[in-house]
Amino acid sequence: MRHEILDSSEKIVYLLGNEAIARGALEAGVDLASGYPGTPSTEVLETLINVADKVGIKAGWAVNEKVAYENGIAASLSGLRALVTMKHVGLNVAADSFVSSAYTGVIGGLVVVVADDPSMYSSQNEQDTRFYGQLAHVPVIEPSNAQECKDFVKVAFDISEKVELPVILRTTTRVSHSRGVVKLGKVIKMDRKPLFSKNPGRFQLLPSIAKKNKILLLERFNKLNNLIEEVKLEKRIESGSRLGIITAGAAYSNVVEAVDTLDLWDAVSILKLAFTYPIPKKVVSDFIRSVNEILVVEELDPIIENSVKSIMVDENLVKRIHGKDLIPEFYELSPRHVIIALSKLTGVKVSRDYSFYDNINNELTKFLPPRPPAFCAGCPHRSTLYSLQRALAIMRVSYIYSNDIGCYSLSVNPPFGFGDVLYSMGAGVGVGQGLAFLQDQFIVAAVGDSTFYHAAIPALINAVHNRTPLLILVMDNGVTAMTGQQSHPGTGVLLGTGGIPIENIVQSLGIEYVKVINSFNIKDGIDIIKNAIKYVLENKRPAVVISRGLCALEEINLHRVRGEKMKLYTVDNLKCTGCKVCTDYFTCPAISLSGNKAFIDPLLCTGCGSCAQICPYRAIMEVK
Ligand code: SF4
Ligand code: SF4
Repeated sequence: MRHEILDSSEKIVYLLGNEAIARGALEAGVDLASGYPGTPSTEVLETLINVADKVGIKAGWAVNEKVAYENGIAASLSGLRALVTMKHVGLNVAADSFVSSAYTGVIGGLVVVVADDPSMYSSQNEQDTRFYGQLAHVPVIEPSNAQECKDFVKVAFDISEKVELPVILRTTTRVSHSRGVVKLGKVIKMDRKPLFSKNPGRFQLLPSIAKKNKILLLERFNKLNNLIEEVKLEKRIESGSRLGIITAGAAYSNVVEAVDTLDLWDAVSILKLAFTYPIPKKVVSDFIRSVNEILVVEELDPIIENSVKSIMVDENLVKRIHGKDLIPEFYELSPRHVIIALSKLTGVKVSRDYSFYDNINNELTKFLPPRPPAFCAGCPHRSTLYSLQRALAIMRVSYIYSNDIGCYSLSVNPPFGFGDVLYSMGAGVGVGQGLAFLQDQFIVAAVGDSTFYHAAIPALINAVHNRTPLLILVMDNGVTAMTGQQSHPGTGVLLGTGGIPIENIVQSLGIEYVKVINSFNIKDGIDIIKNAIKYVLENKRPAVVISRGLCALEEINLHRVRGEKMKLYTVDNLKCTGCKVCTDYFTCPAISLSGNKAFIDPLLCTGCGSCAQICPYRAIMEVK
């Protein structure tokens, strides 16, 4: 595999924003990179892991974001440079240590890349990470394209060391996942030796020390205000006009497209910020003085807008200011939003009739069949959920299903409809345990393998501690599948190379009913889940069923690597009655109806064999 991020300096390459961040870390002399996968941040660490051995750095996935961040703190306190990566909700997991690390301050540069997901394309909320900067008194820098992704990482490391604070490098989906040309600099190795100098009076956050550190934190923050003025990373486009736009990050590209579309280059001045918390006060107040009216364009919450307003109050600058009155506070920003806002402010007519496109879209939507995301052909979760559905029906229990974050979140879709609550990583067991603790309905708590290690173990301990009766279903597909087959502490079990078995952890907690089933063995699955339900009802204690079957995508990858052919199943047309059990109640995407008979697409089938077990007429069989 060719690693463009290791190309020589001065070369111009075409990189994903996330790859450019990885290259920036190498040019900054990073020593350690750690993180937990989460879209849209994943490729930063993936890229660094791929080249870690070649460049002599340590890089790897951590069990969760908190541990990743704590690894970063350790590197920093040892005088090394550390990059930690996560998505926005991951910073909630790391928040305890993150906020405290601002109190101790850092030694080696500590940069945390946090990728926000406006519009929630793959997330449970769209929180704005910049609030964490405010909360912790930590600076936030926002690149707007791939070149800045690379360059700003280096600045972030330098600032982090100068001011002894961690720095957040915040991206949003559009910046992380867009490609752009990047002029490379030099990859450097700092050759620092890890040296932890004991200083309990600083690093041990007992209340007496924390009290003292809070004052020091505010002093560092004040120093930071000056440094941010000095780095001069802002971009100012002057037209001498009376309308000034203040923007940053991905929103800047929308501004450029909107100004272009309305041909307003002579009618607006633009200030693009790099640091969005704190913002460079002098730069911003100079800009405000140069215009009569201001429009702040930013994605999600009014962080820049509020900072600008505060500067205006402090400096007694009375100008008309717009922001969230014209630019939405939710979902991903598009040029259309900025075009409409600018049209209102300048009186320039929008030549495009957006309502026309909206009407076409609404009309077409009426005719298009809904296409909810589905489990892949050969996904172990489909087989597990089928077994669970059958077992619950046979046992005639009414239940509440507490879902978790991962591919198995899709269990809420037909034909399964499993998913009464879904909050965050590990909450399937936590909320499930709480529900079982409080009321009489039978509770099924789902959790995936990566999520089990990430955040479910304390909730499981709580279930044991409180003797809570619930069925915990661990859906172990052998990888962190949703974000692209990353490894986790259990990886290797299915591949025969070790790992920490989930069943060992569960047994060590004192749970008596612990069974491992093969996800693709439907009959065994139904029997064991039935027994587990019986055990919970009779003993009023938790039971754990671990359903193990490799992710279909990983299975395909392994077959390719080994040069092996996949198994294949087919339908015997003479036996198929067209009962539709396989298409309506199992819904593997490889199976469809051809006339009134089932048909298996050989290009999609992964040979998992589950459909052969559920066909009531034994019409499905392996191709020999
Ligand atoms: S990626 Fe893997 S686990 Fe996820 S739906 Fe597809 S096969 Fe199932
Ligand atoms: S064997 Fe059946 S269930 Fe499995 S992937 Fe092929 S068609 Fe789908």
